[in-house]
Amino acid sequence: MDEVTVIAGCAIATVDDRRTEYSRGYVVVRGNRIEAVGEGDAPEVDAGARRIDGRGCLLTPGLVNTHHHLYQWITRGLATDHTLFEWLTTLYPVWAGIDEDAVRVAATGALAALVRTGCTTTTDHHYLFPREGGDLLGAEITAAAEVGLRFHPCRGSMDLGVSAGGLPPDEVVESLDDILAASAAAVERWHDPSYDSMLRIALAPCSPFSVTPELLRESAALARTAGVRLHTHLAETIEEQDYCAQTFGCTPAQYLERLGWLGPDVWYAHAVHLDDDAIEAMARTGTGVAHCPTSNARLGAGVARTADLVRAGVPVGLGVDGAASNESGSMIEEPRHALLWARNRGGPRAMTVRTALELATIGGARVLGRAAEIGSIEVGKLADLALWRLDTAAHAGIDDPVTALVLGAPPPLAALLVNGREVVRDGEVRTVATDVVATEVARAQAALLAKAR
Ligand SMILES: [Zn+2]
Repeated sequence: MDEVTVIAGCAIATVDDRRTEYSRGYVVVRGNRIEAVGEGDAPEVDAGARRIDGRGCLLTPGLVNTHHHLYQWITRGLATDHTLFEWLTTLYPVWAGIDEDAVRVAATGALAALVRTGCTTTTDHHYLFPREGGDLLGAEITAAAEVGLRFHPCRGSMDLGVSAGGLPPDEVVESLDDILAASAAAVERWHDPSYDSMLRIALAPCSPFSVTPELLRESAALARTAGVRLHTHLAETIEEQDYCAQTFGCTPAQYLERLGWLGPDVWYAHAVHLDDDAIEAMARTGTGVAHCPTSNARLGAGVARTADLVRAGVPVGLGVDGAASNESGSMIEEPRHALLWARNRGGPRAMTVRTALELATIGGARVLGRAAEIGSIEVGKLADLALWRLDTAAHAGIDDPVTALVLGAPPPLAALLVNGREVVRDGEVRTVATDVVATEVARAQAALLAKAR
């Protein structure tokens, strides 16, 4: 029989189509689905139900992270004061040493940080496959199952090494044929298209300056045949814009459009430097954006036109990006930074606190093609829920709970449910021992740096 969980006594921001909120409400979860949500006291349910006291808390949909590089969790704190291109060329030789063990440990550390900060669904963009590295995608899929997140890993790729005019060293790029074969095999082995899916694969050539146009074109064709989504970095920096102008005679957005990379099955990471035409094309085609405000600021890449994208109707989600450019890897910091950056760029009305929460929840679900299943608290949707403590010394007395969540200090979690399963309770991760993970991360980080030095 399906387990029943009742959360009651909490404020609720459902983020449904009407943006319904309850000042003191309840949610009933049966198995992995939301069975009821409403104002006031919870209805009578099975005597054996698990009950979570939500008093003093705000319940939101679990946060959806639309861009990450999990393996970078063990390469944090390097090239701290560098530009993106300098940072990449410093880190590539370190990253070239990753293997299955390094990726499993790094992913576990990064995923544990995500669940502690309210994230229930994450993607990963893994594009680095050293020849002797082993089964790296398999290693992170194992880690995600262990930590307990809904996972959308990308089989990423690079085929343009430095000897061919690209940025990455030759030893970390693969051939076009090998990439396409590995991509097809990853979809075949792991992709689950079902409503309840905990695991979906996407294809993700890395960026215009590390892949060939053939790889972009062929990956799009393969993804569309296989029915999976497409992801890449786009227009992150001015240097990329200059590279595309010199190499292809167009903007990064025009370059990708020429190669078939517009559509409701595509989402771009960053999309900082966009002109009006690019925003119009993305809105018209339903092409999504993973906005990564913390990473963009950490690398000084620029401030994205998030308010313009949202106004145009482009699907926008938020992403922590890889931990080498965002050491905290904290999902709850992203809505706040998205709001602050948007207002700094566009004035006080550029983004509301509720829009910031929407980007982190239903916005991310749209970007990943999962808006029917996750991203809001509605009867029949999957039970991915974050219960935030707002009665702490840092939050007590903040008038509006959504404001407290978005603009206050990152609150602790009373509970986090993923697919109905309790992954965090009273601030503690229940699925993995975080002290053991920390020790393993330190060991793997030291070993990786020792290899590179
Ligand atoms: Zn990235």
